[in-house]
Amino acid sequence: MSETPLENVVIIGSGPAGWSSAIYAARAQLNPVVYEGAITEANRMSGTLPLGQLALTSEVENFAGFPAGDLGAYLDSALPASRRGMMAPHGGEGVTGPELMELMRQQAVNFGTRVITDDITKVDFSQRPFRLFPSAGGEVQAKCVIVATGASANWLGLESEERFKNRGVSACAVCDGALPRFRNKELVVIGGGDSAVEEATYLTKFASRVHLVHRRDELRASKIMAQRAFDDPKLTIHFNAVLEEVLGDDANGVTGVRLGSTEPGKEPTTLEVAGVFLAIGHTPNTGFLNGQLETSDKGYLIWKKHFRTNTSVDGVFAAGDVADDYYRQAISAAGTGCMAGLDAERYLAHQ
Ligand code: NAP
Repeated sequence: MSETPLENVVIIGSGPAGWSSAIYAARAQLNPVVYEGAITEANRMSGTLPLGQLALTSEVENFAGFPAGDLGAYLDSALPASRRGMMAPHGGEGVTGPELMELMRQQAVNFGTRVITDDITKVDFSQRPFRLFPSAGGEVQAKCVIVATGASANWLGLESEERFKNRGVSACAVCDGALPRFRNKELVVIGGGDSAVEEATYLTKFASRVHLVHRRDELRASKIMAQRAFDDPKLTIHFNAVLEEVLGDDANGVTGVRLGSTEPGKEPTTLEVAGVFLAIGHTPNTGFLNGQLETSDKGYLIWKKHFRTNTSVDGVFAAGDVADDYYRQAISAAGTGCMAGLDAERYLAHQ
């Protein structure tokens, strides 16, 4: 019978929070292991593939330390050929999300982090050491756990949205936008935040026109992003509009949308589009915890001590978007990952 491994620190999640905590834990000689997630269709659909949400974005313009520039030679030297070969060629316009994530992963590996490409599907925090159950089977025990599982894209929950998922309905423009079915067609993006504007702007590279549909009369997106949307000649913004139904048929997938108005007395309108992209916020990935850690009313993990990453269970720390419904930035996730790595080190030192 094989023995259950006992780890000092298990880090669950592989976004900026996970890798930053791994870099700190590895440099503290804690020999951390990262469960980076499994490569499955279910994870693709829910946006929980390894390397997290940033792997699904294009250029990252606001991560300090990466001004626009050609990183091609640096990427070739920093990353092993096996990982570099899996990535798109560098575009010479500053760092992209996938590049940034590969760099963070490599930095953690360089300091001795072990990486397992699997999900943790269940935990038991009622016992010491903690018990963790990977989807591949078996069990891992840990003295300390860092939860950095991030958040996933929300859906509206319309029956027609579900019907046309993968056939014209998507929650990730960067993953799916370049598909032939969307090329030189009109597309619609739902939402009014930075993600919606970013996705809409990105889609104008492929589409003949992009319609941004927002339920209120002003964008939530930051001023600079909103201005980009207003200035884009291929982008039309529809305010006070909501998606009522995705139209289409089995042969063609999506062929249009019916939009309702939030203004009294206004009739629904239809748009002929080949794709519908949802960008209406996120939900933290905490299902596998089965309620064992305290959460906010929105479901985000709660830090129980001021400016410390301690959760409601001593020895379990949370970092990144799974515990942050406010900043939700790559750089703040990386920052809280650093904090969780240090908190784990200090926790273990006191044991
Ligand atoms: P968000 O800021 O929460 O925006 C979600 C948008 O979806 C809002 O406009 C919201 O409308 C709309 N919405 C929510 N539920 C809806 C529903 N059921 N039906 C119709 N519309 C709905 O989310 P986000 O855009 O994903 O951004 C999350 C965070 O990431 C933010 O802090 C953002 O700044 C950051 N971010 C930054 C960048 C960047 O800087 N490059 C890029 C992407 C994201 P209301 O406005 O009416 O609430």
